[in-house]
Amino acid sequence: MTTILVVEDEPKIAQFARDYLEHAGFRVVTAGDGRFALKAVARERPELIVLDLRLPDMDGLDVARALRKDSTVPIIMLTARGEESDKLIGLELGADDYMTKPFSPKELVARARAVLRRWALARTGGETVRVGDLVVDRSRLRASVGDRPVDLTPTEFQLVAALAGSPGRVFTRAQLLDALHGVAFESYERAIDAHIKNIRRKLEPDPRRPRYLLTVYGVGYRLAEP
Ligand code: CA
Repeated sequence: MTTILVVEDEPKIAQFARDYLEHAGFRVVTAGDGRFALKAVARERPELIVLDLRLPDMDGLDVARALRKDSTVPIIMLTARGEESDKLIGLELGADDYMTKPFSPKELVARARAVLRRWALARTGGETVRVGDLVVDRSRLRASVGDRPVDLTPTEFQLVAALAGSPGRVFTRAQLLDALHGVAFESYERAIDAHIKNIRRKLEPDPRRPRYLLTVYGVGYRLAEP
């Protein structure tokens, strides 16, 4: 059974999320603060985390930062209206999707399924692509540069896997959003730039002079040809 950790200090919202997710067939663990959430992640090994940004001790962004040190588990952030800057920071920290409160529990279930499906699809994508020292192994969901493995979040891997599907081909931001199955971030094309920036920091020898993930000005991005 797939385990989802819901991190939310408001008991009503946590309960409501739990009820719907359990009804949809997931096993749900809840945590009311950041410290407890990090312990729950270590103990329960959830496949997905639903993370509220406003928490009593560490805020959600600190929790995401701590998680990303050694985990690529998918994260759906819960934000309040008007927290635009938090949303961007969250995406930069490697969150996979976000929902603005108040949200419908049905939508939460749909997003959870979409993020998990995206992760599973990335896993079954097949073949290995090599460009210079960069190796993207789409079946084992791994990327490496030389002998150094690169830790990508599910969304980051999905973007790299999409670009690696046709090295040299130019992808617009809208096409890259489509590659994320059109569910995350809707028309939020700037999110692509935030992800690309993170990916470059992880895999480019010099992120300011990218060798692999190339910008096509005014259009989008492409992976260098082998
Ligand atoms: Ca809260």
